Amino acid sequence: MRPDHPFGIQTLPYGSFARPDGRARVGVAIGDHILDLSAAWPTLAPAEENLFSSGSLDRFLAAGPVLWDRVRSALTRWLGDEREGEHVHGFLLPAAEAVMLLPFTVADYVDFYASEYHAANLGRMFRPGTDPLTPNWKHLPIGYHGRAGTIVVSGTPVPRPRGQRRTADGSITVGPSLRLDIEAELGFVVGVPTTIGEQVPLSAFDQHVFGVCLVNDWSARDIQAWEYVPLGPFLGKSFATSVAPWIVPLAALEEARTAPPPRTPRPVAYLDDSDEARWGLDVRLKVAINGTEVSEPRFRDMYWTAAQQLAHMTVNGASLRTGDLFASGTISGPAEQSRGSLIELTWNGREPLEINGGRRTFLEDGDEVVITATAPGPGGAVVGLGEVRGRVTPGGGRAAAPRGARHGEGNG
Ligand code: MN
Repeated sequence: MRPDHPFGIQTLPYGSFARPDGRARVGVAIGDHILDLSAAWPTLAPAEENLFSSGSLDRFLAAGPVLWDRVRSALTRWLGDEREGEHVHGFLLPAAEAVMLLPFTVADYVDFYASEYHAANLGRMFRPGTDPLTPNWKHLPIGYHGRAGTIVVSGTPVPRPRGQRRTADGSITVGPSLRLDIEAELGFVVGVPTTIGEQVPLSAFDQHVFGVCLVNDWSARDIQAWEYVPLGPFLGKSFATSVAPWIVPLAALEEARTAPPPRTPRPVAYLDDSDEARWGLDVRLKVAINGTEVSEPRFRDMYWTAAQQLAHMTVNGASLRTGDLFASGTISGPAEQSRGSLIELTWNGREPLEINGGRRTFLEDGDEVVITATAPGPGGAVVGLGEVRGRVTPGGGRAAAPRGARHGEGNG
């Protein structure tokens, strides 16, 4: 394996996969291979032998930080030590032979709006002449509850959504979205649940959150613009949200942790992280459409951290479930080429992008979007987050779900 491989020993992300016509298994990516952990674990570590037997990460996520550390230590030993290596060799398969599945049962899904640059860009477009940020923006991480049942694994086709929109002359029409967009985001996966009435302080973030994955929060801007007042995003967002198949544990992102940007005004006490562990993350994303790179967002530019988002999600006593997924919101930076959505990159469609000799404002049928990311690892190594990939198909059909699109019970 190349020493600079993004899925080197420093990363060890977890996923769920199947060989064609085989049953779901938990896997750990190592280089261009996958370790079949469902098969290897009972043989090599007889304690907790059923930890990975279901083929999904659900049981492991719920097990908590002590077991998360123990498994990562065992994997580091097995895969990083030549002498141990012979024991695991029989459990490795080429990644190219695996069909990746949704790695855990998504419980609740929340999407935030944590980039000041993104929020301000949208404010300038839609509320010109006023403050680009709403009065609450710097006091709390704004979010909404999304649709967990339409979270799909990378590679699943995304049918163009249909819906209601208001046309320029004020009439109402129903049809395929004409302004289909992407949002490049990071998702955070909750492992350890809480009971109702409990709050998760900033200091307990890593006692509950297991890891991160890339997210593409597909958005139909025309449907969204008409429906969102006063209760927020609904059908313009709920038709599909794509996630990367690999969950990178927080433990692999130690080197990537960085100070979040300064906050003015100082947040209220439960959100004030000035004396807390730092949860800014130096994760660098790339967004490509049909093979042409269009953006390089940086997660370190995000105003609110995931620890603050979790504290906010639970300040009212709402409980967490294993498999809750909360996404950061579109990751946009100060530079034009660091914007994480087409509505910003094309300034609401007014400044088309050049893609392979063609011009794009919003997505056309057949367009394929790939978001990738890396973060700094120990000793100059690179931690990879893999990719989240999706192709827009004409909507309105009844296409059979592909293998990789199975959800929930499909992982059993
Ligand atoms: Mn979003």
